Amino acid sequence: MSIFQNIIGGERVNGAGVTRNINPSNTNDVIGEYAQGSRADADKAIAAAKAAFPAWSRSGIQQRHDCLKAVGDEILARKDELGRLLSREEGKTLAEGIGEAARAGQIFQFFAGEALRLAGEKLPSTRPGLDVELTREAVGVIGLITPWNFPIAIPAWKIAPALCYGNTVVFKPADLVPGSAWALADIIARAGFPAGVFNLVMGRGSVVGAAFIESKDVAAISFTGSVGTGRNIAAQCVTAQPMKKIQLEMGGKNPLVVLDDADLKTAVECAVNGAFFSTGQRCTASSRIIVTAGIHDAFVAAVTDRLKGLVVDDALKAGTHIGPVVDQSQLDQDMDYLAVGAKEGATLAYGGERLKRETPGFYLAPALFTNATNQMRISREEIFGPVASVIRAKDYDEALALSNDTDFGLSAGICTTSLKYASHFKRNSEAGMVMVNVPTAGVDYHVPFGGRKGSSYGPREQGSYAKEFYTTVKTAYTLP
Ligand code: NAD
Repeated sequence: MSIFQNIIGGERVNGAGVTRNINPSNTNDVIGEYAQGSRADADKAIAAAKAAFPAWSRSGIQQRHDCLKAVGDEILARKDELGRLLSREEGKTLAEGIGEAARAGQIFQFFAGEALRLAGEKLPSTRPGLDVELTREAVGVIGLITPWNFPIAIPAWKIAPALCYGNTVVFKPADLVPGSAWALADIIARAGFPAGVFNLVMGRGSVVGAAFIESKDVAAISFTGSVGTGRNIAAQCVTAQPMKKIQLEMGGKNPLVVLDDADLKTAVECAVNGAFFSTGQRCTASSRIIVTAGIHDAFVAAVTDRLKGLVVDDALKAGTHIGPVVDQSQLDQDMDYLAVGAKEGATLAYGGERLKRETPGFYLAPALFTNATNQMRISREEIFGPVASVIRAKDYDEALALSNDTDFGLSAGICTTSLKYASHFKRNSEAGMVMVNVPTAGVDYHVPFGGRKGSSYGPREQGSYAKEFYTTVKTAYTLP
């Protein structure tokens, strides 16, 4: 089996070891062996990115546009193949995998356009005769660290803006899913960027990720992953010499509020899609479903009915609605939380059992708890699997209070036909993203993505807001 190598300074290089990429739908299926970078590899990548920075940061916008567009075009042309690889390594269904691959292509095309749109401002000075100009410049070498649950879209929404605004990149994907990241890196490496502008170093977080964070030559870190890792990274970046700019996207415990006046069909679709699609492994998943008393029983019955019709099977099989959990350790975490929920007194109304399929994989029936309270651990801690809890609320006011009573604040949804409640919820929800009559998960790529409280730190990702992180502002005064 040939090894998928790291890409450092334009060269394809082996690492210190290899990671075997295993299909969670069939653990007998080894997708490939991927180089596991050492600290020395990470340092070489940082040096290559540092050397490439002066020229790339001053490169023309047409060149940047053309390179980014070439990446987007190739991803879109190969979306079916890339989506299949993604589903094979991560376990989301083929339709979800292809959708995610297409999203990555659209993101590169969006930032190809953004390269042509970067604007500054020219203002009068408070001092007569002077001009003031505000311009945006590249930040430097940026370290990008990504999680396993969106193996191509999250790398795309960090890499594309980083390169668009003239930064150079060292990128470390999640160890569990190097396949999509490698395929993306391979496309970028052939898209016309000068050597060293983009570097891929696969490997452990504690080795490669730590090297990025500790290097004085890395100016900024954009991280998506768990809260614990994010907090440690933040602590290191602000005490580093020099301090690093940081952007952290972390967990969620996203509420979906269902009011008495909701359209039941819409509410059921929002809940099932938001909580269980992509196997519930989305930071924006609806894990707390807060339902007012008048619709509660009908809603639970309808959701349970809908869950009975969902097929949990091999991610690549036609007809599968929910693929496997990503690996044994995530499955263990899901099972632990199922036990915690039962022990805390919630009722397991549906699912939660391990399932056997034709091939050995990490199959779990989507689990719905009822009679949960907002104080239970299953309502406060991120589970990151196909597990959701229904919490009963007496009315809208209590539902809103419960939805905001969380350490997180990424996405929050409401299902209602009332303009009054929808408007009030949009104004008063303490989340970065609010959804009315649509699932809490599922966003556009041309608008900002991010949360509040424990979910996020630093400027938003995506859309034109991405420039807040990936550029630094210069204020210039001229006396003509
Ligand atoms: P994780 O924190 O375990 O790992 C994320 C990345 O950090 C990986 O690449 C990992 O190798 C790296 N890493 C680990 N230790 C490190 C260290 N000491 N130094 C530097 N890098 C290190 O997270 P995960 O399990 O891959 O992903 C799941 C988590 O990601 C969930 O909590 C989920 O909510 C979160 N997530 C958040 C968003 C968002 O935008 N808010 C999106 C997707 C996933």
